[in-house]
Amino acid sequence: MAIATVNPATGETLRTFEALTSEEIEKRLARAEEAYREHRLTSFADRARLLHRAADLLEEDIPEIARTMTLEMGKTVASARAEAAKCVKAMRWYADRAEGLLADEHPDQADVADSGAARARVVYRPLGPVLAVMPWNFPLWQVIRFAAPALMAGNVGLLKHASNVPQTALYLEALFRRAGYPEGCFQTLLIGSGAVEAVLRDPRVVAATLTGSEPAGRSVASVAGDEIKKTVLELGGSDPYLVLPSADVERAAKTAVTARVQNNGQSCIAAKRFIVHTEVYDAFTQRFAEGMRALRVGDPMDDTTDVGPLSSEQGRSDLAELVDDAVDQGAAVLCGGRRPDGYEDRGWFYAPTVLAGVDSSMRIHREEAFGPVATVYRVGSLDEAVELANDSSFGLSSNVWTRDRHDIDRCVRDLQAGGVFVNGMTASHPGLPFGGIKRSGYGRELAAEGIREFCNVTTVWEAD
Ligand code: NAP
Repeated sequence: MAIATVNPATGETLRTFEALTSEEIEKRLARAEEAYREHRLTSFADRARLLHRAADLLEEDIPEIARTMTLEMGKTVASARAEAAKCVKAMRWYADRAEGLLADEHPDQADVADSGAARARVVYRPLGPVLAVMPWNFPLWQVIRFAAPALMAGNVGLLKHASNVPQTALYLEALFRRAGYPEGCFQTLLIGSGAVEAVLRDPRVVAATLTGSEPAGRSVASVAGDEIKKTVLELGGSDPYLVLPSADVERAAKTAVTARVQNNGQSCIAAKRFIVHTEVYDAFTQRFAEGMRALRVGDPMDDTTDVGPLSSEQGRSDLAELVDDAVDQGAAVLCGGRRPDGYEDRGWFYAPTVLAGVDSSMRIHREEAFGPVATVYRVGSLDEAVELANDSSFGLSSNVWTRDRHDIDRCVRDLQAGGVFVNGMTASHPGLPFGGIKRSGYGRELAAEGIREFCNVTTVWEAD
């Protein structure tokens, strides 16, 4: 894949970039190692000062960097501004709390008395240069949610960003430099995916995090496994959205629209499979389809647009294939199911779509629909809803709408996912761990769990 900015709203190539040569990669790896030697020794107060400065700069840059993101991957400019603001918040959150999250822990002396220790403690030390392989869909947020905790922990970062967001990738490197981070603390590697293996095998790179598709995760994890290097994987999702008999159907349907089409439908934690109890099925489905039909599709730079284009032509054709396969096998199209009027041959748009009558023989039942396409299922009981929700190779998050405490407890106990969001949609927050199970990956980002993933959890045992 060429490293280039191609405007998804028009299909026009705006800028292309040369990939780094192996000599240039070597220079950056050497710089990362050198920077780590110093950075690991800095105090939390110094790290916090730098990260606050980067957050302040990013806050000033929001209008400009939002436009860049929209130009590169097509998200609406309003959502791009919100993404950048969320990054500022996460940076400040970690700047203010990392020292506490990584404070030494002192096990109860009674629990370790027979170890012979006069004193024992657990110390969180950094690991070294970490490679971050990142996707285009939240081109700032995915990177910041790795970089903020990693830098606060004393690690340094090497970013291999998706090939279609090079300007955002370069902006990030420049942001950290402008904030005063020494050269080498956070570097962007403009490289294609074929060059990742060599970087990951380099002994100076000690660990990797990847957010992206299952094939990319498998590839990076297998190389890292071969090298015995730690990885965190945040992969795809096909989150269920259960609407149960006692739900507030009006709110559930309104939120369902946002949950499905946020980021033009290209979010790992978007609700994708709407599993609705027969008692509320007609009321929910009618409102949901109406809401999806009413969305304004168009120019992502226009503040009144709800849904912009998909990020690439390939992304749109993959999505259209999933819809066509389902329709060929008998799924009903409640709205959409095609390119929107006026955009048949301009940009990579796809109309917000609701499909009903989906069954397990259809590809869309098993695969991730990465665009504004929802599938709705009718179920007769909570048991059936939970079984259908778990009938997926993914396990990222899940959503449940109910006023019944028993339903909530049952879902928290049985839904196979890294999150259960009740009467709301899944969203990440710096203070809450984020990640999945099954084919959605492993490890956690954000909160204490996220910052500790790339730490050497060190046992210190002292006899007198
Ligand atoms: P992708 O094709 O897997 O790309 C993600 C990153 O991996 C890019 O930097 C890509 O580089 C690189 N890559 C691709 N194949 C690779 C390989 N074999 N070895 C090493 N690196 C490789 O995914 P995407 O299309 O950008 O993003 C969409 C996917 O990400 C969806 O499945 C979505 O659900 C998932 N996602 C998950 C989360 C989460 O938190 N769980 C968040 C956001 C997105 P190139 O661009 O150069 O190919």
